[in-house]
Amino acid sequence: MRVGGTGRRSLLPALLSLLGTTLLLSACAAAPKKAAEPSATLALPGGEFRFEHSARDAQAADMVRRAVENAFPRLARWGTFQEPVTLVIHPNHAALERAARRSGYDFLRAWARYEQVEVQSPRTWTRAGATQKQVDELLLHELTHSLMWQASATVSDWTKKGIPLWFSEGMASYTAGQGYRVPSLEDLSRFLHDHPQADPLARAESLYETENATVYGAAHHAFTFLMERYGERRVRRVLAAMRGGQDFTGGFLEAIGLPVDAFLRDFRRYVYLRGFKGGRLAPPPPPPRPEVRGVPGNPQLPASPAPHSPTSAPPDTTPEAPSPTS
Ligand SMILES: [Zn+2]
Repeated sequence: MRVGGTGRRSLLPALLSLLGTTLLLSACAAAPKKAAEPSATLALPGGEFRFEHSARDAQAADMVRRAVENAFPRLARWGTFQEPVTLVIHPNHAALERAARRSGYDFLRAWARYEQVEVQSPRTWTRAGATQKQVDELLLHELTHSLMWQASATVSDWTKKGIPLWFSEGMASYTAGQGYRVPSLEDLSRFLHDHPQADPLARAESLYETENATVYGAAHHAFTFLMERYGERRVRRVLAAMRGGQDFTGGFLEAIGLPVDAFLRDFRRYVYLRGFKGGRLAPPPPPPRPEVRGVPGNPQLPASPAPHSPTSAPPDTTPEAPSPTS
């Protein structure tokens, strides 16, 4: 089992309010190879999966295995896995943190990388254990990360593509249907009015600690905007362009037809001006011609905030935030 990449990682602290328990959905990192029981395998049309767990977690492993099977109808839109994925089921939270090389993340429940997903045994998520629905959602999110990396990179360069947090976490959150966990578009609009200098998308890392819920809400909504405006086929082409050698910036320009920063300005303007009210989502522009190298003259944000901005209300969910490191 290869372990890909070093140093780059992202996290999604997401709130799962069932039973009053917060769960973190996370993504990617280098982690040591896990010694475990001989692995069982699951061969699906979209990929091959291996499971490593102790005898005590046989039932939990069954839940994870079912979750992998259940993930596929919604995961398949992004393609198929090129490499087998090993799901390591850790007997407790401390073991997960060791594998993820993170400490103090009480909310962490899983950690995904190119070819391996570390999962805290669902048996230990709550006193009563996790439900299949909870495990399904977590695994769909995590497997989306692994599939995104496999669809856009090789095992040797997946950490070097420069995929921003808003895209990777937005894609995972969108695919797993986790919009109900994050602050609403209205919450995000209020945030932008109250913090006109803040940029929870392009500068997500700088807000990670203080505005974690906003960062992940913005990621979810930006990716949703991308899908609705440009379509799934072109988003898949972003991944394919990266697989073909582009980094994220180049792949986005090639597939979507405008620079990433122009897209982000469009999205910010849509949120700021509350374009989501009344469903006024602009129709998609025509597909890019091969020679198109971006669309100049994208509308800019208003120079000054709107005359009135309501006081920001606390979001419905307020995930705990780990400190961004390395
Ligand atoms: Zn994630």
